[in-house]
Amino acid sequence: MRAFLLSRDDEKVVSHAIVDLTDDDLPEGEVTVAVEYSTINYKDGLAITNTSPIVRTWPMVPGVDFAGTVLSSSSEDVSVGDRVVLNGWDVGEKYWGGLAERARVQAEWLTPLPEEFSTYQAAAIGTAGYTAMLCVMELEEHGVTPDDGPIVVSGAAGGVGSVAVAVLAKLGYEVIASSGRIDEEGDYLRSLGATELLDRSELGAEGGRPLASTRWAGGIDVAGSHTLANMLAATNPHGVVVACGLAQGMDLPASVAPFILRGITLVGVDSVHETAERRAAAWARLGSDLDATLLDSMITEIGLDGVEAAAADIVAGRIRGRVVVDVTR
Ligand code: NDP
Repeated sequence: MRAFLLSRDDEKVVSHAIVDLTDDDLPEGEVTVAVEYSTINYKDGLAITNTSPIVRTWPMVPGVDFAGTVLSSSSEDVSVGDRVVLNGWDVGEKYWGGLAERARVQAEWLTPLPEEFSTYQAAAIGTAGYTAMLCVMELEEHGVTPDDGPIVVSGAAGGVGSVAVAVLAKLGYEVIASSGRIDEEGDYLRSLGATELLDRSELGAEGGRPLASTRWAGGIDVAGSHTLANMLAATNPHGVVVACGLAQGMDLPASVAPFILRGITLVGVDSVHETAERRAAAWARLGSDLDATLLDSMITEIGLDGVEAAAADIVAGRIRGRVVVDVTR
């Protein structure tokens, strides 16, 4: 089996290579999966470019998600031939991940793939799309309806953002897409269902006021830092903002004003450690609420030899939508 392997030497210099491994090289685990497709998520980009200390055991097969078919299983819950998807669970960080033709993992980390998805589509959605769905579910569960007003989505041309825009629009929400690439990706964002485009330089500007004029009933934020602070400051009274990312920064230079003067709710999403029930619920919702044709328009497909370049591109914010990796080529 071919695998994209990250290694670290005694001087802590990190390198990567596409290597040939055998099943005996795989770690211990209950289920062996023939991986068909993996993807490049932002976290994979950070790991592969060694920009952040994402990897915690060496050597490492990165790839925080994959979709494929079960080859062998010692668990009663998973059978040979099952089509499965894996998102998170520290895979690609602490445990070997999806950028290889086979993976060996624990049964409880696997989500059965809903009928309506191929393994290719499941990978295209990936952790980014599943996280976007979790964010939309949080907005709904906190009572935000399409009648309340528009929803702003930051990093809209990226993976989480693209799926969030498409799902929200299909559900009837008016969507304001914030992007640093309106000139290049404006048409794409409108095709996903965005009704208004907002330049990233405005939403992500430093020095925003603690309370600004209200503009939206809620938001989904992938950027953190000033973007999240400005999003909170312009949210309608009793609105809801869901934070899931740090593309701009890990800091949050905000004030308590939106919380104590407008009753805003800030909700966090951690897709990595979600329960099996909530994962299955999110995947079922993607089956009904994400338009397959729009999903197709988000995809760039590469092989293992394209992983290095795609990792650099995602960290630099140059990826549109989602990158699917065909691990067999
Ligand atoms: P992508 O790289 O695909 O998308 C991120 C987008 O953010 C970029 O495409 C760009 O969109 C925008 N962006 C880039 N740099 C900046 C910046 N300096 N300021 C503001 N916006 C910026 O990544 P993903 O969509 O896969 O992930 C987005 C974030 O969500 C990441 O931080 C990731 O770690 C996090 N994440 C969190 C998860 C969780 O469980 N909490 C799960 C999955 C992802 P544009 O050009 O349109 O502005």
